[in-house]
Amino acid sequence: MKKAMTILYKVHNNLYVNLTNRCSSSCVFCLRHNGDSVVKGGDSLWLEREPSVDEVKAEFEKFDMKSFNEVVFCGYGEPTERIDDLLLIAAFVKEKYNKPIRINTNGQGNLINKRDIVPNLKGLVDTISISLNTPDKDRYNEIVRSIFGEQAFDAMLDFAREAVKYVPNVVMSTVATTITKEEEAECQKICDELGVTYRIRPFEES
Ligand code: SF4
Repeated sequence: MKKAMTILYKVHNNLYVNLTNRCSSSCVFCLRHNGDSVVKGGDSLWLEREPSVDEVKAEFEKFDMKSFNEVVFCGYGEPTERIDDLLLIAAFVKEKYNKPIRINTNGQGNLINKRDIVPNLKGLVDTISISLNTPDKDRYNEIVRSIFGEQAFDAMLDFAREAVKYVPNVVMSTVATTITKEEEAECQKICDELGVTYRIRPFEES
């Protein structure tokens, strides 16, 4: 495994923030099992160490921020493992560059932080994309393998339910071809009940 200090990286027209390699899950499909980068031939997203808030802020200077649509907290780890630092950086990005902010998350942030972090997202986070993965709790436990075990699925749904109150755009996603059409219909139903947008991501974006 190659390590580097790839703090920010480009994917299409968005700039991604790689804050941590820590994660409460160990998903069977995690890209981290298959290589060092989400982009073929890209820099390793395994960090030599976690960057400080000031290091992350300084890193933005190296990019032409006008060219990006969105700043996305999503790397080789679960961004809410560093929620307090993430929010400081999000506030900085909003103030200095006026860019929309998205977090891609496993939805276990309240369990990870042992407190309700969702109200803190208000005014800073424009979109939160939560990995639903499957409509079935037992299947979720099998594939996500969270350290929180049985609690994780319900906590993830509660996280989404609460996020609707504080974040303008709440999305829950599954990956195309990984579940059946019937399961996708069940996911749509869950999302409708929660009042969030359901998105089926292309396989290569997983
Ligand atoms: S939640 Fe994301 S980073 Fe964590 S193991 Fe699953 S796919 Fe990998």
